[in-house]
Amino acid sequence: MSKKKLATVWLGGCSGCHMSLLDIDERILEVAQLADIVKCPIVDGKEFPEVDIALVEGAITSDEHLKEILHIRKQSKILISLGDCAIMTNVTGMRNYFNLKDVIETSYVGSVSNDDAGEVPNHWALLKLNDKVYPLQEIVEVDYFIPGCPPSADAIFYVLSELLNDRIPDLSEAKKMKHG
Ligand code: SF4
Repeated sequence: MSKKKLATVWLGGCSGCHMSLLDIDERILEVAQLADIVKCPIVDGKEFPEVDIALVEGAITSDEHLKEILHIRKQSKILISLGDCAIMTNVTGMRNYFNLKDVIETSYVGSVSNDDAGEVPNHWALLKLNDKVYPLQEIVEVDYFIPGCPPSADAIFYVLSELLNDRIPDLSEAKKMKHG
């Protein structure tokens, strides 16, 4: 069996799902035997290559995320929503209950800060926030969902190892693996 290509992506999330992925500890060696991690937040590659599996943490919050997820979908045979932010927007989507302008002004102008100017950052290179935050499956087709905030390391490892061994994961099994 040839080695697969694996990518992990950090969109609108807190990186806690990636921390849980790291919690698979030494089992990362089993993953490394079956797959090359060709893209992740600490792999300095500018392009997103074609991959067998993409694990995506976080929701779609901006024009940049939207462009990224459309490209990731094209490049990935299997796309997995990793965690509740990717699946249902969760913490990232709390701003959906408010007007975006109010959220930005409260964050940059109204909040206590050591930035005396209290100005909303405005630069062409900054991403533009969407009015609303979207879960991945509202934008692209998603093949598997690993719920949790964050999902347990055991559930992440189970799903990954099944897919890397060309088996279909039984997500009812993954659901039983609570964060411990
Ligand atoms: Fe962070 Fe939880 Fe969202 Fe994962 S699901 S990115 S741990 S807030």
